Amino acid sequence: MRTIGHFIGGRAVEGTSGRYSDVFNPTTGEVQARVALASKAELRAAVENANAAQPAWAAQNPQKRARVMMRFLELIRGEQDALAELLSSEHGKTVPDAKGDIQRGVEVVEFATGIPHLLKGEYTEGAGTGIDVYSMRQPLGVVAGITPFNFPAMIPLWKCAPAIACGNAFILKPSERDPSVPIRIAELFLEAGLPPGILNVVNGDKEAVDAILEDEDIRAVGFVGSSQIAAYIYVRAAETGKRAQCFGGAKNHMIVMPDADMGQAVDALIGAGYGSAGERCMAISVAVPVGEATADRLMERLIPRVESLKIGPSHDGSADYGPLVTREAMERVRGYIDTGLREGADLAVDGRDFKLQGYENGFYMGGSLFDRVTPDMTIYKEEIFGPVLSVVRAKDYEEALALPSTHQYGNGVAIFTQDGDAARDFTARVNVGMVGVNVPIPVPIAYHTFGGWKRSGFGDLNQHGPDAIRFYTKTKTVTSRWPSGIKSGAEFSIPTMR
Ligand code: NAD
Repeated sequence: MRTIGHFIGGRAVEGTSGRYSDVFNPTTGEVQARVALASKAELRAAVENANAAQPAWAAQNPQKRARVMMRFLELIRGEQDALAELLSSEHGKTVPDAKGDIQRGVEVVEFATGIPHLLKGEYTEGAGTGIDVYSMRQPLGVVAGITPFNFPAMIPLWKCAPAIACGNAFILKPSERDPSVPIRIAELFLEAGLPPGILNVVNGDKEAVDAILEDEDIRAVGFVGSSQIAAYIYVRAAETGKRAQCFGGAKNHMIVMPDADMGQAVDALIGAGYGSAGERCMAISVAVPVGEATADRLMERLIPRVESLKIGPSHDGSADYGPLVTREAMERVRGYIDTGLREGADLAVDGRDFKLQGYENGFYMGGSLFDRVTPDMTIYKEEIFGPVLSVVRAKDYEEALALPSTHQYGNGVAIFTQDGDAARDFTARVNVGMVGVNVPIPVPIAYHTFGGWKRSGFGDLNQHGPDAIRFYTKTKTVTSRWPSGIKSGAEFSIPTMR
C-alpha cells in the first residue's frame, strides 16, 4: 500500500504519528493509498522550518519572488495533464473538470506575479510642514491554510500563492481525502526556486488543525470547508490572536424569471447543478422558477435532461460527472433524498439506485431532482453537496428574491432573465456575496475577490485578488520629519496636521 507523508523543509517526510487515513479511488471504490495524519509535534517541526526560512525570503526583492511564481507557471503548465489525472483519481471529478480545477488555481498564481506592484504602499508628501507620511505592506511571517477536498488544486493555490508572493512562509493542511496534488504543487514550487521551508504541506485531521490553531508562531489561518468547522476555526483563531478568513458551505439559488431563455436556463442548471457530482461550493442546488407557468415549463425540460445525464468513471472525458468522493459522502446524499421524500417534496427523478456497470463498487449516484420543495424542509435548509437539485416554486419576483436573501448561506446566486431592470434590482438587493446575471456559477476572476456572506464566510476579507494581499500583509505607517523638526520643543497635545 502506497503511503503519502508530508512535505516539510523542502523534502518529503514520512509520518511518525502512527495514525493514517485511507485515500480512496472513488471510481472503483478501492483504497489506493493511506495518508499520514500529523501529530502536534510534526506540525511544530514544520512551523520551525518555516520560521527559520521566512525572513530571508521576505528580504528578497518582490521581483525575485515574482520570478518564482513565473517559473512555477511554466512547470505546472508542463504537467497539467498528469496532474489532472492524479487529481481525478483521488477526487473522482472527470479529467476535463480536474483541468479546470488546476487552471482556476493557476490564474491566482498569474495574479501573484504582479506582487511588486500589489505591494506598493501609499505616500503623502507634505502631510504637515516638513512631514511626509507613508505606508508599507509587510508579510505576517508564518501563515497557514486548511483546505477542503473538493478543489484540491485550486484552493491550495488560492491560499498559498498570494501568501508566499507577499513574503510569508506557508503551512498547508490539505484535505486528507485527496492529498497528492497539494504535495506535487509544493514540489513544483521548490523546483521553481522557492527556498525550502517556505511552502510546507502537513497532512492530517483535527489534531493537525488544532495544532495550527494553538501554535503561537502562526499569524493567520485561511480556511475553506464546511460552515460548522469554519465557525470553529474562526473562533479558535481569534482566541490565539490570529487573523482568520474562514469560508463555509453554500446553498446557491438560481432564479428563473418568466422571460428567461428557457433553453439557456436549463443548460445552466444541468451544468451548475450536476457538474462535479454537485460537489462544488458554487454549485446551483436550488432552482427558483417565478410563477407556476414558468415552473411547469422548467420541469418539463429539466426532467428528461436529468434522466439522461451521463455518469462515468473519472477517466471518461465524455462523462457529465464522475463518482462522489467517498462512500460516506454518497450515503449522506442518499440520506438527504430519503429525508426530502419523508418531508413531502416530489422526487421527480430518483438517482439513488444508480449503478455503473463494471464499476459497481464505485461511489456513483444518478442525478436527482426534487420539485415543490418548501423553505421549511431540511433539504432546503441544509447543504446536500451531491447531484441533487431542488425546485422551489416562487409566486412572484419578491418571493424569489427573499429566498436566497434570508437563507443561512450566502455564497453564490444567479438570476436568469432578459430584463435589465429586473437583473439590476436583483444584484443591488440580494443578500449574497457573489451574483451571476445569466451566469450560473459566478466565480470571480483571479484579480477580483471570492467570498460568500452569512454562514458561507467568516471574516472580513475575501480570497484572492486585492483582498488576499491585504489579508497576508500588515500595514505599517511611517510619519517622518527631517532633519530635526522637534527643535521647537515638546508638544503635549496630540499632533494634528493643521
Ligand atoms: P470539511 O469541513 O469536512 O473539511 C475541510 C477541512 O477541515 C479539511 O482540511 C479537514 O481535514 C478539516 N477538518 C474536518 N473536520 C475537522 C474538525 N472536526 N476539526 C478541525 N478540522 C477539521 O469540508 P470538506 O468536506 O472537505 O469540503 C466540502 C465543504 O467545503 C462544503 O461545505 C463546501 O461548500 C465547502 N467549500 C466552501 C468553499 C467556499 O469558498 N465557500 C469552497 C469549497 C468548498
